[in-house]
Amino acid sequence: MNRPTIYQFTFEQLAAWLLERGHKKFRATQVWEWLYRKRVAEFAAMTDVHPTCIALLEENFVIETLTEHTKQVSADGTIKFLFNLSDGNLIETVLMRHKFGLSVCVTTQVGCNIGCSFCASGLLAKSRDLSSGEITEQIMKVQFHLDAAGQGERVSHIVVMGIGEPFDNYKNMSDFINTVKDHKGLAIGPRHITVSTSGLAGKIKEFADSDLNTNLAVSLHAPNDELRTFIMKINKAIPIAKLMDAIDYYLAKTNRRITFEYILLKDVNDQVEHAQELAALVDDRRDLVNVNLIPYNPVDEHSQYQRSTQESIRAFYDVLKKHNVSVSVRLEHGVDIDAACGQLRSKQIRAAK
Ligand code: SAH
Ligand code: SF4
Repeated sequence: MNRPTIYQFTFEQLAAWLLERGHKKFRATQVWEWLYRKRVAEFAAMTDVHPTCIALLEENFVIETLTEHTKQVSADGTIKFLFNLSDGNLIETVLMRHKFGLSVCVTTQVGCNIGCSFCASGLLAKSRDLSSGEITEQIMKVQFHLDAAGQGERVSHIVVMGIGEPFDNYKNMSDFINTVKDHKGLAIGPRHITVSTSGLAGKIKEFADSDLNTNLAVSLHAPNDELRTFIMKINKAIPIAKLMDAIDYYLAKTNRRITFEYILLKDVNDQVEHAQELAALVDDRRDLVNVNLIPYNPVDEHSQYQRSTQESIRAFYDVLKKHNVSVSVRLEHGVDIDAACGQLRSKQIRAAK
């Protein structure tokens, strides 16, 4: 059995683990700073940590478990990393440059069981959840890359929008968030973190009740049940009314804005009447809702869908604006390197078959 990465612990978990083995809490603070502030890649480099503690850590954990398989750099500065997990599975992580900082898109599962018809990740059934350590390590790998470049750049934002459904791996996702938020370590503010879900209603309520306090994005993609079930089969189990009920609970509880993601598929969900229906759906919640329109990235040449035309994207946008709905069109990053969700990984896997 491979030793897991030490990144799997939140600070409290690390402190409790060390305490159970006779080490005082300050050891946890020291180790935490070496991991997330000084960012060493070996326990032996933690020079002020007592040797018995180093030996204990080495016996039970490693720091790095991901190995870089491929790295693609886009003309716009986006970098897409493809990593091998210790069991050989492939995942992807994307670094994007924005005016407001550097954001990283992380993967939470190997594949995805939600099975949305437009998504490359959903074409590959989930083979397993990532551990919280494997999710955190993606951020660390990108941060190591930035550290090596010597420009003093820091990962400032995180989007949990890579391969997988984060709310289907809730505990590990929430440990991950608590780890990257920690003030003694990476200290990435919760309002700089966005979790995207396909709409698991029960988990949206649990998230509302939690103290994670990050932003929430919900993949809506259609304004009525018939169309949404066609695009996302999860809608059969969790139809729009049930989803909206959970969203209303979240809004009432947190009073924070949410984002509805809406992928535009040519002649499927991108017509003016769909925009009108969408405006009516969000109407009562308009003050706390942003709609983010996502131009579709074809999965491959055999894709069932096509990208909407610029004219229909514009017309869709205008209808929402006219109804005073806050709306934006997602800026695309790394289009030249397949940077959409799951695309590089699925290409590699298909090429290997
Ligand atoms: N499972 C979660 C998070 C990962 S998917 C969810 O579905 O919300 C994150 C986003 O990537 C989703 O909103 C999805 O619409 C988008 N996405 C997936 N495949 C895409 C594609 N081929 N083109 C553009 N966006 C895509
Ligand atoms: Fe899974 Fe999200 Fe892709 Fe749907 S869009 S298959 S939920 S990763």
